Amino acid sequence: MKNLIRIARIALTLKKQLFFNLMFNVLGMFFSIFSFAMIIPLLRVIFNSDESFFRNTIAEYQGNVTLNQDSILDFFNYKLAVFSLANGKESTLIYICIFLVSMVFLKNLFTYLSNFYLTNIVHLSVKDIRDNMYQKIIRLPMSFFSDEKKGDLLSRFSADVKEVEISIKATTNAIFKEPFYIIGYLITLTLISIKLTLFILIFLPVAGFVISKISNGLKKRTNQGQIDVGKMMSITEETLYGLRIVKGFNAQSQMIDKYKESNNRLFKVMVGISRRVYIASPVSEFLGVIATAGVLLYGGNLVFAGEIYPDIFIGYLILFSQLITPFKAISKAMYDSSQGISALNRVEEVLFEEETIKSDSKCLNINSFSKEICYSNVGFKYEKDWVLKDINITIKKGQTAALVGHSGSGKTTLADLLIRFYDVQEGEILIDGKNIKNVDLNQLRSLMGVVTQESVLFNDTIFNNIAFGLKKVSKEEVVNASKMANAHGFISKLDNGYETVIGDAGNKLSGGQKQRISIARALLKNPNILILDEATSSLDTASEKAVQEALDHLMKNRTSLVIAHRLSTIQHADIIFVVDNGKIVESGSHEELLIKNNFYKKFIDMQAI
Ligand code: ADP
Repeated sequence: MKNLIRIARIALTLKKQLFFNLMFNVLGMFFSIFSFAMIIPLLRVIFNSDESFFRNTIAEYQGNVTLNQDSILDFFNYKLAVFSLANGKESTLIYICIFLVSMVFLKNLFTYLSNFYLTNIVHLSVKDIRDNMYQKIIRLPMSFFSDEKKGDLLSRFSADVKEVEISIKATTNAIFKEPFYIIGYLITLTLISIKLTLFILIFLPVAGFVISKISNGLKKRTNQGQIDVGKMMSITEETLYGLRIVKGFNAQSQMIDKYKESNNRLFKVMVGISRRVYIASPVSEFLGVIATAGVLLYGGNLVFAGEIYPDIFIGYLILFSQLITPFKAISKAMYDSSQGISALNRVEEVLFEEETIKSDSKCLNINSFSKEICYSNVGFKYEKDWVLKDINITIKKGQTAALVGHSGSGKTTLADLLIRFYDVQEGEILIDGKNIKNVDLNQLRSLMGVVTQESVLFNDTIFNNIAFGLKKVSKEEVVNASKMANAHGFISKLDNGYETVIGDAGNKLSGGQKQRISIARALLKNPNILILDEATSSLDTASEKAVQEALDHLMKNRTSLVIAHRLSTIQHADIIFVVDNGKIVESGSHEELLIKNNFYKKFIDMQAI
């Protein structure tokens, strides 16, 4: 029940849709009861073909209608008798059938309308969840995304959201439809026979208890199932991403085994869940049959004793059989919601994840960059160990600062801190004297352009890749940026020029071409501060030259923080910071550092080898 309510709360925000859904459910319920109850007069007319029965009914009728069960039944019987005598039984039959068809038509019309609003409720809720999840993911700090999480996140987006969708539908019906049908039918059944209905009411809680027993334990298995789906998505994503390596290193069978292991575990969990779910339906049906047999026995005896007419009893049985459907739907909703709740938990883990990196309402404006970037006593760790410690560097406007050092020494981390992919844990980073934690995040990032080692391109046209993140960009601007990035030449030669779609992650282009597109993107953004992670992958000489020229254009008249690998960049930098094991061990110009004949000299000698 707790699960049902928690899931229903999602739909509660859509008050208008819920109101109409509820209204049409109630109307549908009325006409559903009427259409089934019509079976009673129908049987009465067919079973009593001589008129004496109806004459007796009229003779016995007392005439006063009060709100009690016998009086209401007598009233209907009397009306039917009068009508039948006046119009003849053939005509009565025709009228009853016309009435029945109209009732069924209206019932179905209202059922359709209620489903119409139910669909809105379900899909609007899910649409909101997806939108919110996507926006959250865009806003969450980089620290949230470790590699293993990607597949898991994808599965939260797809499988878990689907699960929530199914449970919202079942739950909305279980709360806003089925109880009304149950109440409506029970009232009608009570009107027909109090004794029989009391008998049912005693039996129902027993059935409810048995069903709730089955649902226990389902939640735990469901959780495990969802975690396994996440793991499998991770493996699939990793495989797709690294397919070249998987094939190149002949690791197919290893990956297949890894996948099979996860898949087998999922198989076992899912079979366990399905067995429990599938046992629910036959159990509730069997319980329904037991109840029906009880009603048949008890009601049959009432008929023998003359306490209830046979036609009314058959009508009662038919109405009673309809009572099983909403109960079944509610018990199914219980299962669905227990599955839905673990999916919802996983979705909400993302939705409610804390956004540690954001601008607060009182943040400072930073529209321009005029003096210097300053790291003051900066310390940072991803997990337990300090990755950077006691970093003190200053980069003046217009300077090119090169970070050099061995792989893993902390260069990328140092650069990532400037753009606030992560926040420092010690010290502060200042731009023109303003702590970057206190300035508007969007403004801060607009000051900067990033060119990463691996060109990040999207499966879109070249134009859109270059104009990425900017609004209202003209073709001319894109072409100019491409020309400066030495990219215009090869782009013009492509069949569709700037409108060429470059494939997933730009796979249709060569490494050098991808880099030049990334550089054109940065040139077009024209940032004050450039963060550049030079590619280490060796390009052929022609590409290398083209990329180098593009980079020279990009760095000209700009303040740049470059994670430098090329000797030419390092040599021409205004200031070089040598990073070793998370610390700045030396700084100065190329010549100064060579004279010192220490870390830098060794590093350069090693590069030369
Ligand atoms: P460099 O750019 O000099 O090669 P990095 O800044 O990438 O070095 O890495 C510095 C250290 O931080 C390394 O020891 C690396 O293992 C660790 N590191 C990098 N990224 C993460 C991360 N997302 N989570 C945990 N540790 C990380």
